[in-house]
Amino acid sequence: MKGTVTKTTGSFYWVRDDKDNIYECRLRGNLRLKDYKFTNPVVVGDRVIFEKSGESDYSIQNIEKRKNYIVRRSVKLSKQIHIIASNIDQAVLMITISEPKTYLEFVDRYLVTAEAYHIPAILLFNKADLCNEKEAEEMTAYINLYRQIGYKCIELSALKDDSFDEIRKIMKGKTTLFSGYSGVGKSTLLNRLDPSLNIKTSEISESFKSGKHTTTFAEMHEVKNLGMIIDTPGIKGLSVIDIPKEEISHYFPEMLKLLPDCKFNNCTHIDEPSCAIKKALEENKIDISRYRSYLSIFDEEVDKYR
Ligand code: GDP
Ligand code: ZN
Repeated sequence: MKGTVTKTTGSFYWVRDDKDNIYECRLRGNLRLKDYKFTNPVVVGDRVIFEKSGESDYSIQNIEKRKNYIVRRSVKLSKQIHIIASNIDQAVLMITISEPKTYLEFVDRYLVTAEAYHIPAILLFNKADLCNEKEAEEMTAYINLYRQIGYKCIELSALKDDSFDEIRKIMKGKTTLFSGYSGVGKSTLLNRLDPSLNIKTSEISESFKSGKHTTTFAEMHEVKNLGMIIDTPGIKGLSVIDIPKEEISHYFPEMLKLLPDCKFNNCTHIDEPSCAIKKALEENKIDISRYRSYLSIFDEEVDKYR
């Protein structure tokens, strides 16, 4: 039998077949050891082959090759990698200008990561109804900024709007990683798209609040008549590991275009002469907030594990 892993506890795996039946499976022993670099051999999103192995027992026999996957290091400095989820068609990030304020650096880090994984990213600007005049201007400015770079941006009020046609169109038939700070309105939107989901709003998991290191598992939900979403409780964003410093600018699409015009082909766009990125910055062709995010990612020793 074939299906998709929708949930796991680390020892049990819920697999959904194409007729929407759910099977609780275990892993066949030898799968567990297949790739020691990863802490978890089978993850949410995986397409798996499984079979009946007892009265009501099922076991996963094999995994199909992953189209993509997102990861994080299992613990700081560890060489082992934890795969969060796989086979993602697109990443949707929900942003609010206030209550809570989403920082542009967070947005840019998310977008860089999505670019590095080759996962198309879409930005949802929520709580438009809460914006005062100044915040509304800010929202419009951000939307223009990211649209110009090439990202799809949608403004909405998850609580107040009555049609979500554009969002439905985007999600239709796809598996969407759905992210954003806690409190931005993710659950509110999902419940409006499919009331049978009945997700508790403003839910913050206790383990997350306590700040202890706990393994959080992603979960896949069906949004009826629409598609699948992957929720990653306790993980606000995405993190890329192992991007060499000299490649960070490749994941800023507006910078990527200009790279051939830098004098040095290993230009870091910080203090080299004849740098096309710095020139574009001076001419306001690259936004200062984007460049600041670039510097911030650059300054982190992202490649120290290599
Ligand atoms: P989540 O943590 O991202 O799932 O956020 P929730 O869906 O739980 O929303 C957090 C709070 O924001 C709840 O009290 C929602 O009612 C409220 N909220 C969500 N979307 C909107 C919106 O578009 N406008 C307003 N005014 N409030 C919203
Ligand atoms: Zn340069």
